[in-house]
Amino acid sequence: PERATRVRDLIADVPNFPSPGVLFKDITPLLADAEGLADVVEAFTRLALADGVDVVAGMEARGFLLGAPVAHALGLGFLPLRKAGKLPPPTHSVSYDLEYGSAAIELRAGTLTPGARVLIIDDVLATGGTAAAAAELVEKCGGVVSGLAFLIELEALHGRDRLQGHNVDTLLRVD
Ligand code: 5GP
Repeated sequence: PERATRVRDLIADVPNFPSPGVLFKDITPLLADAEGLADVVEAFTRLALADGVDVVAGMEARGFLLGAPVAHALGLGFLPLRKAGKLPPPTHSVSYDLEYGSAAIELRAGTLTPGARVLIIDDVLATGGTAAAAAELVEKCGGVVSGLAFLIELEALHGRDRLQGHNVDTLLRVD
């Protein structure tokens, strides 16, 4: 099948996960499929070449699974943007609001070269809160966000509106 169709067919819709009323997009069948994974890595790699990128960053945890192979394909390094408390100090940190409470993401100090152009990768763009925090963290550390790339955009949640001024690319858009 066509690449976009193949990728779309490898993403499972799981109702009521992780909580009632949520339709979760599960990418594990895609990760398990050699062609599907290669399609996605290739698509992200092409975007990175168009934007001009020095290093790839990925959001914990599914952004690691997609971002690291893209970095490798480009011959670049990879920066994990981690949930608070996972990295040894010193770190740079940005907090952001969740539906209930707040969270923080961290980058290990000294790993991002000031002025570097950073491509931020994650699996799903939902409300955009996580991605906006990721972009803020990269900038706080002296990096330049060359773009943000996602496998799936949940358009009904308007996450893109929170990333204004940034280059945002999504491979699949769903309502
Ligand atoms: P946001 O901050 O945009 O509301 O949520 C995006 C973050 O939550 C991403 O890190 C993403 O991995 C995760 N996320 C939200 N909804 C889904 C979903 O339906 N499927 C998957 N795989 N991740 C999701």
